[in-house]
Amino acid sequence: MRKNFVVIGLGRFGGSICKELTEQGMEVMAIDSNEARVNEFSIIASHAVVGDTTDDAVIKSLGLRNFDHVIVAIGDDIQASILTTLMLKENGVKKVTVKAQNDYHGKVLSKIGADVIVHPERDMGIRIAHKLASNSILDYLELSDEHSIVEIEANERIGGHSIIDLDIRAKYGVNIVAIKRRSSIIVSPQATEIIQYKDVLIVIGADNDINRLEKKML
Ligand code: ADP
Repeated sequence: MRKNFVVIGLGRFGGSICKELTEQGMEVMAIDSNEARVNEFSIIASHAVVGDTTDDAVIKSLGLRNFDHVIVAIGDDIQASILTTLMLKENGVKKVTVKAQNDYHGKVLSKIGADVIVHPERDMGIRIAHKLASNSILDYLELSDEHSIVEIEANERIGGHSIIDLDIRAKYGVNIVAIKRRSSIIVSPQATEIIQYKDVLIVIGADNDINRLEKKML
C-alpha cells in the first residue's frame, strides 16, 4: 500500500529521508521555511511547500492531520522542533517521528507526545565505535540496552563447520538469523548449513553472549 508522508526540514537528515521515501514509491510532501531548500526538492518530492510549521495556521491549511506519518527533521532550532511537534499532536496527527539533537531535547519530545524519537548522530556514533573497536564485527544495530544484531565475518576456525557442529545457540545463546555469502543471502539457515570462510553471519542475541562468540572467533 502506498503511504503518504510529510517531511518537515530539508537539511541533510530530512533531505535524505525525503529522497529515500520517494525512491521507495511513497508519496511525500516536503516542507521547509527556506525557499531555496524547497526549490531543490520540488522535483524530488510529490509536493514541496514553503512554510513555517511553528505556525498553527500552516499546519491546518496544509491538512497535515490527513497524512499517515509526519517526520520532523528540523535541525539546530530546538524550539521550532518542539513547537512543531506539539502543534502536530494537538492537530491530531497520528504518527510523528522527530529527530532529537540531544537527550534533553529527546525527553521533552517524549513528554509532548512524539511517537518515535530518533538520535541519528548519537546512534551512528555508537555503531561506528563498535565497528572500530572490534576486529570481527562488520556492523552493529542496537535493539535494546542489552541486545543487538551484529554482522560477524567467519574466520578459518569456523569456516567448513555446520551451525549444528559449532553448537552456537547452546554454547553462546545467540541465533544466526541469516548468512551473507558473496552476493546471496540465506535467511533462517538450517542447522546443517556449512559456514564458509568469509561468510558474513548476521547474529542476534544479548550483548555479553555476542561478545563471548566474538572472542571465540578471534
Ligand atoms: P541537518 O542537521 O539535518 O542538516 P539543518 O539544520 O541543516 O539539519 O536543516 C534543518 C532544516 O529545517 C533547514 O532547512 C531549516 O530551514 C528547516 N527549518 C527550521 N525551522 C523550521 C520551521 N519552523 N519550519 C519549517 N522548516 C524549518
